[in-house]
Amino acid sequence: MQSDCFVVEGKLALPYQYFAGKTGSRFLIALRDEKKIMGVKCPTCDKVFVPPRSTCEKCFTLLTDNWVELKPFGTVTNFTIIRYGEPYQPIKPPYILAQIRLDGADTPLTHIVKGIPISQMKTGLKVKAVFAKKTTSTIMDIDHFRPDEKFKMELGYTFDELEIGMSASFTKTISETDVYLFAGISGDFNPMHLNEEFAKKTPFGTRIAHGALPQCLIAPVLGMKLPGLGTVALEINTRFRAPTYFGDTITATGEIIEKIEKKRWVRMALSWTNQKGELVAEGSALVFPPAPLPE
Ligand SMILES: [Zn+2]
Repeated sequence: MQSDCFVVEGKLALPYQYFAGKTGSRFLIALRDEKKIMGVKCPTCDKVFVPPRSTCEKCFTLLTDNWVELKPFGTVTNFTIIRYGEPYQPIKPPYILAQIRLDGADTPLTHIVKGIPISQMKTGLKVKAVFAKKTTSTIMDIDHFRPDEKFKMELGYTFDELEIGMSASFTKTISETDVYLFAGISGDFNPMHLNEEFAKKTPFGTRIAHGALPQCLIAPVLGMKLPGLGTVALEINTRFRAPTYFGDTITATGEIIEKIEKKRWVRMALSWTNQKGELVAEGSALVFPPAPLPE
């Protein structure tokens, strides 16, 4: 019996080649042979195109003789998270695909960003190119981009990066305003901190700061410097040695003294000194440094 032709939809995996063009070829060869990222600059518009193109998209000037080299540093201008998997993808999802404007360029280059948790990815992130160990003569000769060192420092030192003897400090002058604000924050309106006439009768002879005020200056050390952002404080012990007077400049210091491999915790020796070098307090802390960044 005769019936209509029936159309079956299908998909082909089709290997193919294409000529990269004069401009594209030079870009890929410089990337492969010299690990250089080349762009072209329009002399009329003063715009730098990366990846390069043979004519300016604005004024149609021929650009093939106006090569400029870009440094492998740039800024993420836009990004998306790839969560579906397809055989043609260069890496396994999920991964970050970003538009990166290299320093000195006016157009973005699309590439993969690694070395940052997806949840922390943001536009404006400074990144640097990591070149592939083995060439494929494609844009994948740049293996990926990753956050530059500044960002790594922001996230703090991981357990493996910390070494015994590393130390960091934070210094601040304790003003009368600090003491009044701290009284309000803590609810501790003890007259020895707020009433000079009362304080004259105490062993100190004048007002002193709340002990917890200089003590809390260790927080920016642990949380923002060593180990740094991402650190969880588990324990802080303090023994007070001397009062902090109004106007004293206190330096809080933390030093790594023990790495507890089993828990991946770190023990730190703490000290607080004033501008005369006198020990105001000493103690110890147990902290959980930030987890390593995923590759
Ligand atoms: Zn132009």
